Amino acid sequence: MLKASSKAISTFSLLIFSAIIIGWLIDYMAYALALALFVWSVIQIHQMHKLKIWLAQELLIDPPEANGEWGEVFDHLYRIRKQRRTRESALLDEIDRFQQFSAALKDAVVILDHQYNMQWWNRAGEELLGLKNQSDQDMPLFNILRDPNFIRYCQSADYSEPLLQKSPHNPNIELQYTITEFGESEKLLVARDISDLTRLEQTRQDFVANASHELRTPLTVIRGYLETFLDQGDLPSALQKAMLQMQQQSDRMQSLIVDLLLLSRLDSTEVVVDITPVNVSSMIMTALESAELAVEGKKHNISVDLAENIGLIGKEKELHSAFTNLMYNALRYTQDGGAINIKWHCDDAGGCFSITDNGPGISSIHLDRITERFYRVDDDRSTESGGSGLGLAIVKNVVNRHQGRLEINSNLGQGSTFSCYFPLDTLVEL
Ligand code: ADP
Repeated sequence: MLKASSKAISTFSLLIFSAIIIGWLIDYMAYALALALFVWSVIQIHQMHKLKIWLAQELLIDPPEANGEWGEVFDHLYRIRKQRRTRESALLDEIDRFQQFSAALKDAVVILDHQYNMQWWNRAGEELLGLKNQSDQDMPLFNILRDPNFIRYCQSADYSEPLLQKSPHNPNIELQYTITEFGESEKLLVARDISDLTRLEQTRQDFVANASHELRTPLTVIRGYLETFLDQGDLPSALQKAMLQMQQQSDRMQSLIVDLLLLSRLDSTEVVVDITPVNVSSMIMTALESAELAVEGKKHNISVDLAENIGLIGKEKELHSAFTNLMYNALRYTQDGGAINIKWHCDDAGGCFSITDNGPGISSIHLDRITERFYRVDDDRSTESGGSGLGLAIVKNVVNRHQGRLEINSNLGQGSTFSCYFPLDTLVEL
């Protein structure tokens, strides 16, 4: 460029110098100079015009022929345009690949700005959420997804758990929504079609409920006969022993069926209906009595500390089952003479039912999974004590349904504390 500009300066100087000489010779110095400047300007304007026409071309064609500084300018601009075109086409390829990939996605993906306005969505967004390509652009998401639960979920800013809901576009589709925040409070909303999973889960629940229900009648008959035979009392001792074992096992089957039926009932309704203020203290005392009856023969030091004037709004039957299960576990798993402390109290954060024992405790490796159905820490320990492996699953389910939270603290060899926390607005003064 520098070389070209010095060449241009020398051409210009030569032109002026020639005009001066010619003008001096013909005695028209001013005219000769003006003519030289005019010619120089015409050349420059012509080159600029060529540049303008070339820059206006959409296609990247070779630059116009030019010498000197203009040639250099054209070449330089050509290189810049070429680089830009290469970058543009790489970017277009990327966008194309992204669009192909997003169109192939079965999950609906929506990008939202910080005010929940829809910025972009993929094809599944149109199919699952009913978004329209042009008209919904920049519209608030809540104009389309109006369900109050969904709005509450979005605005809660707690996206640790997904939200399950029917599609606003097609009520036969069950969706699982997740939200991830990125950039400056922008959000990525993903909606996955989980209809097949839900149907499968429903089939499983129906099967368990039906099977448990069908098993109940034959089992009642078997238990009835066993009881009648054992009541007669004149059986040979070998038969008596076998009958007693049969009775024990049928009792276990009975409690398993009762627990399975209870769990299916809990699964089949999402919210607790028929809620009433429950007198927790008196319910705890009745639950304790039935738990003590179930483990008769064991003696523990039981202490009870109850806030008698505080009740809980909920379903008494469900709460009774949950609390009985916890007490039953503490009594079953804690050795004879062990200490058990039962507490119901409330503070600014809410109400808490807790039961602490100094029994065998549970190793921390089991704590994450202990509330799963049929999960057992130690099969022998559980079977010996007649457990079904469903007790804590029932407790967690019931507590969650009452907007509460189950917390388990335990140390192997030292004992355990099971605490059920309930929010303040579920408490009542009795
Ligand atoms: P199960 O009917 O087998 O007791 P649960 O769901 O009630 O089933 O309990 C799951 C497992 O947790 C039990 O198998 C038992 O090993 C352990 N567990 C529950 N409560 C206690 C407790 N208070 N102390 C020690 N282990 C416990």
